Amino acid sequence: MKIAFFGIKRSEAWEKPHIRDQLKNHILYFFDEHITPENIKKAKNADIISVFINSKITKEVLKQFPNLKMIATRSTGFDHIDLKACRKKKVIVTNVPFYGENTVAEHTFGLILSLSRHIHKSYVRTLNDDFSIDGLTGFDLKGKTIGVIGAGHIGLHVIKIAKGFGMNVLTYDVKKNKFLSEVLGFNYSDLDNLLAHSDIITLHAPLNKYTHHIINKKNITKIKKGAILINTARGGLIETEALYSALKKKHLAGAGLDVIEGEEMVREEKQRLYQEKHLKKWKQLVKDYEIFKMDNVVFTPHNAFNSKEAIKRIVDTTITNILSFIKKKPVNIIS
Ligand code: NAD
Repeated sequence: MKIAFFGIKRSEAWEKPHIRDQLKNHILYFFDEHITPENIKKAKNADIISVFINSKITKEVLKQFPNLKMIATRSTGFDHIDLKACRKKKVIVTNVPFYGENTVAEHTFGLILSLSRHIHKSYVRTLNDDFSIDGLTGFDLKGKTIGVIGAGHIGLHVIKIAKGFGMNVLTYDVKKNKFLSEVLGFNYSDLDNLLAHSDIITLHAPLNKYTHHIINKKNITKIKKGAILINTARGGLIETEALYSALKKKHLAGAGLDVIEGEEMVREEKQRLYQEKHLKKWKQLVKDYEIFKMDNVVFTPHNAFNSKEAIKRIVDTTITNILSFIKKKPVNIIS
């Protein structure tokens, strides 16, 4: 099989040799960058491609891989792949369903603690030889209520950690697990109630047509005044304009974001946006930068998954997905 790996630049030294070793009977291509029109040409005969979230798999991209049989995304989320188009072309798509429930949950608490104890502000101050603590009074997590939107692998881990901090937990999910709610000691709620009663709200639902802008202009004001909003799931869950306005008006006390709408442009596509046709995206980018500059916002560049242990689990599951597909016993199929 011809197998092409895209966006594998971030990898540590062990990653490519490990993949080569595990897939030694196959022809492998590695590309540092995510999918681009240039690198597609070099791998156009690929039977299998493996991508990360920054490679958008559209109908047009699929057309350029005439032999493609499988896409192995090295992520849990798959909103970067046009599944309908894949089904039409009979291309199997697999993901890594769980590799980092603790990894992303730990990062979520990194963002929460930065904001609750002003760690980001303290860091910047001391870099400027200012060791004063004026304005750095934070708040305890113990006794506060955290609202978890989406209690799947990651959300449940967030709940476990929150319980360790002595927090109360409200959860909104379309699926309810009564057993776990009793064991872990959390309550299910409707969304409006969660928004109104949580001191910290954290998003862990997938991005799809039902969750797109689940936090929006209409409901952001239902959030308890002075609450903190955390998003380590997908940028599209929050309407950026609503977030900007709630932060500006101090309705929200802060935001911890690992993801934001338009993050792919922040990363690598700024130049292309200067074209008039991308005006809407350009406006989005401007808003993102205004949010990043606020001192009550902590932004990390979609880095919540990025621990050594999680990357090892991602690579190993992706190899298993590919080998199982080749053996005609595919696993972790999403479409
Ligand atoms: P999961 O599928 O285990 O859990 C998602 C939960 O959301 C499920 O319990 C599901 O019932 C619930 N849900 C679905 N639709 C909903 C809706 N409309 N309203 C409320 N709840 C809804 O997924 P997971 O492993 O916990 O990951 C969650 C998301 O986190 C992923 O989809 C991915 O987008 C994101 N993620 C981000 C990073 C990162 O690096 N920032 C890493 C991994 C995953």
